[in-house]
Amino acid sequence: MATPVALVTGASRGIGRRLAIDLAAAGYDVACAARSSDEHRGKLPGTVEETAATVEKAGRRAWPLALDVRDEGAIADAVEQLYRAWGRCDLLVNNAAVAPEVPALRDTTKRWRLAVDVNLNGPFYLIHQLAPRMLAAGGGRVVNISSGAAQAPEFGRPSYTVTKVALESLTECLAFELRGRGVAVNCVRLDLMVWTEGFAATLSDPESYGMEDAVIMSDAVLWLARQPLDYSGHVLSISELRARGIVRAPTPAKK
Ligand code: NAP
Repeated sequence: MATPVALVTGASRGIGRRLAIDLAAAGYDVACAARSSDEHRGKLPGTVEETAATVEKAGRRAWPLALDVRDEGAIADAVEQLYRAWGRCDLLVNNAAVAPEVPALRDTTKRWRLAVDVNLNGPFYLIHQLAPRMLAAGGGRVVNISSGAAQAPEFGRPSYTVTKVALESLTECLAFELRGRGVAVNCVRLDLMVWTEGFAATLSDPESYGMEDAVIMSDAVLWLARQPLDYSGHVLSISELRARGIVRAPTPAKK
């Protein structure tokens, strides 16, 4: 049987990096996408090459993909290259996100558009490119990563809340459109705090929060990747998946 392929966005650090590594350990070749690369380092640690090197240590192929998910043309080119090189994509994880902590009316319209472009349009561009190819190949899965913020306007990051609500709705709309056709679209809503470089950097005292390890997201995504293709259109919170025994018990972050 051919090795399955996953494309994970936001894989330079945090949850995306953990997902890429754990998908590799579960037998996937992984395209690790984000903006930070050896050539263009960001302010926070982590690059797609570093994640890719760890994926390769797990004995799988890795593709470090320097990609801005706001760039529709770059996404089309990357998907074309992925299919030319590896011939398939079985799993897309739309994980990349930004979470500006600014009240809506104090936000600039430019920064508002940034959140819409990264958190909503990017996932749509990727699904728009990949779903037809998955359909043609006879199946595939999309997992979108949402947040408890989708249910909590008081979280204080309005553009983030709005775009995560929209991402959950996009999950349901696309699952409906694709029903019975072999492409599953589901969403994991992270309603707990997971320690990541990006999230910690936005908090004044990150150590004061009892944050969990990103591995709990791997439990959820790997479980969804094992479900039949007609299991689609679900928005599942981590708390709910934990109550069902799918996500492990509370696990302190390994930083
Ligand atoms: P993080 O540490 O800030 O990482 C975000 C990732 O997104 C980075 O790899 C970043 O890489 C990438 N990214 C940002 N803008 C991008 C762009 N324009 N194009 C491509 N990649 C881009 O975040 P995280 O905490 O791991 O969060 C991952 C997911 O979990 C997000 O969807 C977030 O909403 C969700 N979530 C997290 C928590 C939590 O407690 N951590 C809670 C609820 C939901 P580059 O900067 O290299 O591009």
